[in-house]
Amino acid sequence: MTKTITLAHGNGGQENNELISKVFYKAFKNDILEKSEDAAVIHNGELAFSTDSFTVSPLFFNGADIGKLAVCGTCNDLAMMGAKPKYLTCSVIIEEGFDLRNLEKIVRSMKQELEINGAIVVSGDTKVVPRGSVDKIFINTTGIGEIQKKGISSNNISSDDLILVSRDIGAHGATIFAAREGIEMNTSLESDCASLYPQVQVLIDADIKITALRDATRGGVSAVLNEWAKQSNICIEVEEEKIPISDEVKGICELLGFEAMALANEGTFVLAISKEDAQRAIEVLKTFEKNSKASIIGKVSDQYIGKVVLNSSWGTKRFLELPTGELLPRIC
Ligand code: MG
Repeated sequence: MTKTITLAHGNGGQENNELISKVFYKAFKNDILEKSEDAAVIHNGELAFSTDSFTVSPLFFNGADIGKLAVCGTCNDLAMMGAKPKYLTCSVIIEEGFDLRNLEKIVRSMKQELEINGAIVVSGDTKVVPRGSVDKIFINTTGIGEIQKKGISSNNISSDDLILVSRDIGAHGATIFAAREGIEMNTSLESDCASLYPQVQVLIDADIKITALRDATRGGVSAVLNEWAKQSNICIEVEEEKIPISDEVKGICELLGFEAMALANEGTFVLAISKEDAQRAIEVLKTFEKNSKASIIGKVSDQYIGKVVLNSSWGTKRFLELPTGELLPRIC
């Protein structure tokens, strides 16, 4: 590891994971943290607990803003543990000179998204720092959720499961990229930013055998699959042609040389579902309009333990690696 922090250390990929394990996990080591779930499972398995900070630039973008993102991000990590989001904190660090109307707009977005989750903000903190000490506004949210279905874990995936994705991938990353590069898109490209608890609730109500769920945020679907392969000691084999990618996202990827699998999402999740229920899970997911492209993308094997294999439609195979380098700072 280099002696100073680089932007790559926040990429949601390899360098990020190294920093977390060598600095934070080493210092804070405990059984709950080491499970590396989307949210910590506490209080005899009854509650999920998670935190996230939001630094996205620009603050307002097609499909959402930093406020909506700040509620979705934390609530989604709770939902991925089968938990219903209940209580959130909201801490903001605001730069001197920030437009009050924009602050109100951001807070309105937060309120709307809290209502979708049935959650409330019960504690918060506000700091204002001199101009230049922070870029406009950074938001931290921490959330507690009530676990509705116990036992969902990224450490228990086996060959009895199939791997699914809830919708077409990469929309958030592509939207932020396009906004930052000033690319005028005459298309419907917008962030997928959305609260996922309503979808998780319907899956639980339908009694789908859920093994694991993870929202494909920084590092994208690539990061989720690689993390799962390592955590569950399995090989995940993905059929490249089954991965849903919109034409708009494909266009941005071709233009800027990205892989959609490594692009961030904020309302898209990967599921490990028991084989007998996988098709039914797809049907349940598709009852949500935005999930019309929900798909079974892969299976679990013991071919290369800890690795993800991408099978192309031409019959070639390659490893899908954990994203590395400076992907896209301040994506969330
Ligand atoms: Mg997550």
